[in-house]
Amino acid sequence: MTLTKADWQARAAALCPETRMFIDGEFVPALSGATFPTINPATGEVIAEVARGNADDVDRAVTAARRAFRDGRWSRLDPRDRMDVLQRFAGLVEAHAEDFALLDTLDMGKPISDMLAIDVPGAVSNLCFFAEVVDKMEGAVTNTTPQALHYILNQPLGVCGIVVPWNYPLMMAAWKLGPALATGNSVVLKPAEQSPLSALLLARLFMEAGGPAGVLNVVTGHGEETGKPLALHMGVDKIAFTGSTEVGKLMFVYSGQSNMKRVTTECGGKSPHIVLADCDDLDTAAATAVSAIFGNQGEVCSAGSRMLVERSIHDDFVARFTAVAATAHQPGDPLDPETTMGPLVTAEQQERVLRYVDIGRKEGARLAFGGAVPAGLNAGCYVEPTLFTGVSNRMRIAQEEIFGPVATIIPVDGADHAIELANDTIYGLAASIWTSDIKTAHRFARDVEAGIVWVNAYEAGDATTPWGGFKQSGNGRDKCLEALTQYTQTKSVWIDLR
Ligand code: NAD
Repeated sequence: MTLTKADWQARAAALCPETRMFIDGEFVPALSGATFPTINPATGEVIAEVARGNADDVDRAVTAARRAFRDGRWSRLDPRDRMDVLQRFAGLVEAHAEDFALLDTLDMGKPISDMLAIDVPGAVSNLCFFAEVVDKMEGAVTNTTPQALHYILNQPLGVCGIVVPWNYPLMMAAWKLGPALATGNSVVLKPAEQSPLSALLLARLFMEAGGPAGVLNVVTGHGEETGKPLALHMGVDKIAFTGSTEVGKLMFVYSGQSNMKRVTTECGGKSPHIVLADCDDLDTAAATAVSAIFGNQGEVCSAGSRMLVERSIHDDFVARFTAVAATAHQPGDPLDPETTMGPLVTAEQQERVLRYVDIGRKEGARLAFGGAVPAGLNAGCYVEPTLFTGVSNRMRIAQEEIFGPVATIIPVDGADHAIELANDTIYGLAASIWTSDIKTAHRFARDVEAGIVWVNAYEAGDATTPWGGFKQSGNGRDKCLEALTQYTQTKSVWIDLR
């Protein structure tokens, strides 16, 4: 049955989400008793008061996770049994697709149709991918002297702290839980304070799937109050972080200030989206470019926010982009299944984006469309899809991550110039080129400083394709088999045979 806007509104009105933290197999309030409101950015209304964790709650969760890891209830579980739990977990997430859709849409404003088409399937396929590899991971026997048997064990790290952002609350958590749990670690998950609700449902479903108590814990609260003590905790072996570059850098500092825990980061971006004159399908390129920057309200780490368009087709491309944008992603009520763009996550984020619109104007870029709060949507944190043309790559709107629906188009003179500008950024997450020349495509793939490269596509990929950045976009890789190595450590074992 396809739910209508009225159905979703009725469900939202009846919602009674879990708001306590999940520690050692139980939902518990913060030790201090404190709470914080989580707010629906489409209406400004408080959805719920959520437990506000601090260092004491973090310590409690880490202690439970450590105990669970040490006694082997998960870390030394028969791999087939661990696999069964993770497969059941993935199945339960899928079965609760509508519940997750409602929670994340209310918490952070993305269209409910995106949740059902992108976020939930993305989370489920990732959990399935890592569930399937549990009994297929192998060590190695090295070819050392015949006087010894030497083998390599890949063992779980212990307690992994997972800190995630609000733009894909469920999916970002699932991307990290998959490899962390598949390899036998215990986890303390810290969702963003803007979007804590879906993580609590995840925890419940892990238990329902047969996951032992203490293996997956969720601590809710603010970054400084819960994320920081988690990253500073001496009992945490690794921090897997997704979020801003600014906070990602702090994770390395916290590691150095505590126990040199491993740190992997997935951070911000200002991804170049190149369209060359030899692109043989400008309509598809323009339509793809619109979704690449306005999808998920532009709150996407890999958003194609910096379009580099060859001068000879620049005006034509701008016209096509503008025509598609006029209907493709228009702000509306995210609970309406027809809506393709919701509000931004918070009033602060809305202000930040509008501030960048001002900056762009003052820098001398031309505001081609948008740039304001859409008429009739003043109660929510909405911003119109916005395009700046006449942008230079040195402008702040071309260099800084805006994290909202603000596109910039920069004219370029050929492939070499495009690649040069593509790399002229502190970031290196994603990059795309539209060309019909195979040599240009491969040269771009070789030379562009980005962890994810598309040719004649954008945002393509699945659980098998590595996700992560170069430069200040971070050092981690989510999805893909390589992610497993980030949650294990290598043990070298020498058996003397003489
Ligand atoms: P953020 O860095 O503000 O917060 C991310 C998480 O870190 C949250 O859980 C937050 O509570 C926590 N945090 C904040 N300050 C902290 C501190 N001092 N110590 C410990 N934890 C702290 O990011 P955000 O605003 O939630 O998310 C948007 C950012 O995430 C963007 O920069 C975006 O590009 C990035 N992102 C990257 C990827 C990727 O895969 N590369 C994916 C999604 C989002």
